[in-house]
Amino acid sequence: MKDKYDIVVIGSGLGGLTAANRLACAGYSVFLAEQHFQLGGLATYFRRGQHIFDVALHGFPIGMKKSLRKYWGKEYADRIIQVKRIVFDNPQFHLDTTFDMQDFTRHLRDLFQVSEKTIDAFFAELKAMNYYDDKNETTRELFERFFPDRPDVWRLLMEPITYANGSTLDEPAISYGIVFGNFMSQGVYSFLGGTDVMLDMMAETLRENGVDCETRARVDKILVENGRVAGAVINGREIGANAVVSNGNLLSTVHDLVGDEHFQPEFLDGFAEVKLSNSSCQVYMGIKPGEKLDDIGDLLFTSTHPEFDSTAICAKKVTSRTYSVYYPAIRPGTDQYTIVASMNGWLADWEHYSEAEYRSAKKDLIEDTLNALETYVPNIRQICDYTEAATPRTFARYTLHREGASFGTKFKGLDYSMDLAKQVPGLYHTGSVGIIMSGWLGSMNYGVMVANDVDRYMCAPTLRTG
Ligand SMILES: Cc1cc2nc3c(=O)[nH]c(=O)nc-3n(C[C@H](O)[C@H](O)[C@H](O)COP(=O)(O)OP(=O)(O)OC[C@H]3O[C@@H](n4cnc5c(N)ncnc54)[C@H](O)[C@@H]3O)c2cc1C
Repeated sequence: MKDKYDIVVIGSGLGGLTAANRLACAGYSVFLAEQHFQLGGLATYFRRGQHIFDVALHGFPIGMKKSLRKYWGKEYADRIIQVKRIVFDNPQFHLDTTFDMQDFTRHLRDLFQVSEKTIDAFFAELKAMNYYDDKNETTRELFERFFPDRPDVWRLLMEPITYANGSTLDEPAISYGIVFGNFMSQGVYSFLGGTDVMLDMMAETLRENGVDCETRARVDKILVENGRVAGAVINGREIGANAVVSNGNLLSTVHDLVGDEHFQPEFLDGFAEVKLSNSSCQVYMGIKPGEKLDDIGDLLFTSTHPEFDSTAICAKKVTSRTYSVYYPAIRPGTDQYTIVASMNGWLADWEHYSEAEYRSAKKDLIEDTLNALETYVPNIRQICDYTEAATPRTFARYTLHREGASFGTKFKGLDYSMDLAKQVPGLYHTGSVGIIMSGWLGSMNYGVMVANDVDRYMCAPTLRTG
């Protein structure tokens, strides 16, 4: 770590990694500080014995291929592969889909008996949506317009998005429409080789492009002098910088890293309304070497709840689970099978436990999950040789996100995230925020947008040094 950089990036989630890479490619000296011992933020993995568990590689839209090619390189884009078999199983319907517009049109028409005219009009409306549209209509109102009294259709259209980013029916329809529309364009995709390969490649690219990157480097404070960003305190050491990009939690960035005293009261009043998204629980299951899993689908959206209900999806008593099944094809040359069950959750349901109670609650979570999974893999207990659970406490610990939020803030957070530099010149935020900018694609693209803003700021005559 040198004493001074042009730019310090705090956090190596996909937003931070991408912003750091773009800024280094633009010729700036960049320090990337990650508090965890590993890069990736939520887009991470861990090893246990022979098993590698991907935390957040259930799938992303095809747009990742273009973003990876443009901002990281062709060798990344060439690894994008389709997740072909997505299964829904709930009390209202059971279906297999490739999760794209064509296949959804087929199911909506044949299984749900919706007229083609309505389906086409709905998809046309989604296609035309953009950030500058009317933000007052909610997803509930959008669905009422197109599919009144059809809770089964609402579930098909909404449940995967709620799993993916925690959004509810009462949030702006554009935040749903833009994310869902991205998936509908060509389905769901993954990264050949897994998250470990992708992060190793990214670390190497950052090194080649001259980013100084440290793990176990925690930023305690963003320094502000004469109303502008002047650097950051990293592991207790002051490092000078003309601009700082925080990939950490938006609320922590403002209140803890910068401090309320540097913001206008009107900004803080509005900012108080910004809500965090929910957190997650996961159960990781490793299959014994030599054992095989039949093809039960790549991604299974399962629920025993009678109807779509975003409150029930986050409840401590789990009724809805998404299973990601990783077959050896994701890591060619291996015979590894793993299953990751993901549930949405709230930190409040987990934080009050003592250590002993917490261990026992995690054990219950694993047992419940194995019981539920027996519906799809009857011999799971015989073929599984490793289980582990993560809870909102785990996510809070490893990412420092307030409340262990998995998907940043709700929609309102986006305007505040984008406006930080108007309050404190040189201060930027990137990463999961406002639903639209969450997920692998949203976070990465937001990293690029913010890098462009930082570049404009750094080119301002007052900061130009030579
Ligand atoms: C269980 C789960 C499953 C998911 N599945 C998918 C999926 O299938 N597809 C998809 O597209 N998205 C998925 N997501 C969401 C996606 O992973 C995230 O939206 C995205 O990775 C977030 O990137 P980010 O840029 O916001 O950074 P984050 O991942 O939030 O990372 C922020 C980084 O900043 C670091 N940091 C914070 N504060 C400091 C500090 N003070 N000093 C130094 N470092 C700091 C943290 O340690 C962390 O590494 C999933 C998320 C979860 C939780």
